[in-house]
Amino acid sequence: MTAPRGPDRPPSVDALARSLTGTGVPHPLLVDAARAAIAAGDPGSAPARAAAIGRSLLQPVVNATGVLLHTNLGRAPLGDHVLPAPAYSNLELDLDTGGRGSRQDRTAALLARAAGAEAAIVVNNCAAAVVLVLAALAAGHGVAVSRGELIEIGGGFRIPDVLEQSGATLVEVGTTNRTRFDDYRRAVEGGGWAAAPGAALVLKVHPSNYRISGFTEDVAVADLAGLGVPLVVDIGSGLLDAGCPWLADGPPSWLHGEPAARQTLRAGADLVTFSCDKLLGGPQAGVIAGDAELVDRCARHPLARALRPGGLVLGALQETALAHLRRDGGSIPFWRMATLTSGELRVRAEALGVGEVVACASVPGGGTLPGVQIPSCGVAVPGDHAAELRSATPPIVARVADGLTVCDLRTVHPAEDGHLAATLATIRSREPEPRP
Ligand SMILES: *Cc1c(COP(=O)(O)O)cnc(C)c1O
Repeated sequence: MTAPRGPDRPPSVDALARSLTGTGVPHPLLVDAARAAIAAGDPGSAPARAAAIGRSLLQPVVNATGVLLHTNLGRAPLGDHVLPAPAYSNLELDLDTGGRGSRQDRTAALLARAAGAEAAIVVNNCAAAVVLVLAALAAGHGVAVSRGELIEIGGGFRIPDVLEQSGATLVEVGTTNRTRFDDYRRAVEGGGWAAAPGAALVLKVHPSNYRISGFTEDVAVADLAGLGVPLVVDIGSGLLDAGCPWLADGPPSWLHGEPAARQTLRAGADLVTFSCDKLLGGPQAGVIAGDAELVDRCARHPLARALRPGGLVLGALQETALAHLRRDGGSIPFWRMATLTSGELRVRAEALGVGEVVACASVPGGGTLPGVQIPSCGVAVPGDHAAELRSATPPIVARVADGLTVCDLRTVHPAEDGHLAATLATIRSREPEPRP
């Protein structure tokens, strides 16, 4: 016998959860929402709690910020590189022999080919690439790094900490603003009053997200190549070739000075490490590329298996690598967006037919190319409507500045223009009429 329920009794968790179905949220999570609502003494909040769970799921969003590599929005935009269903793949099968193949061989080989490297392997991200290189080539030894390159990237990727985790010891070289060849040479030779052993590896790190200017001095990769120990350059952004052969018009002017894999290896680096979801324009992954023997030592280190990516990532990365090799930058979403002219964007902004067409500036983002702005075009509406735009389906993320909500069209896919226009129009129609 269950006790009769009066109107003032809270509903059962189960009944409340069942009243929430139809939202696409699985039943156990609806039970959690119902339980939390009842525990809070507010059963009426259950639908909003269930909706909040639905909204917290990974989903496509419209990036109207003009930040091309937006860390909160997954950095480089992904194309539709999904494997066709049923989605088995020859991930570790050699189709010629029928024997076991290596998941590393094909995608990594394509990237090596595109970067002019002898060999490469793919890991989870660039942080993993740096850890693996140091663990495989320098554990128990000193690694020489310029004091001007002891940087932190993103949340918590700090070169001194990464070095320590890999089992290597940091040998600081030079000063924050000036480091010379002789500083590196002394670090590699060792000795001194403490008779320290020499560093077994030189690591150069591109300070991607900041610039030192003024009274500075740095040593070129080519000058460090003859020191007699492996020279590893963490270039970070994954620009494969400074000449950008995948772009019909060559490198955009805003790319100026960004180190590229091919040129860094040609200058004498033994290995480069880089991210795949920055200027490469692919999914989240990291690459170690260069000398075949050193790459092989990294691949054989026990950490390599712990750091390897799955088939989904390798499939998407393969498409990115093939597009680079086909010289088809237009099929890489990041490069397609990055090279649109503001004239093309203005035509789209005018066609939206809502808000005011404004000139604005996009940025590469993702901790690359600090200070670089790319002239762009978008639409602006008065007021801060960021929260309303985020609550649209799919959510729209825009920029608010100087009392205006600005939607930069560079990072918006043209197929999303209609949704953006319709959402902005509903916001405008709800605005109070200006008083006469
Ligand atoms: C971005 C970056 C990293 C970290 O890359 P993730 O792929 O995010 O791990 C490391 N080094 C440099 C120089 C970078 O620019």
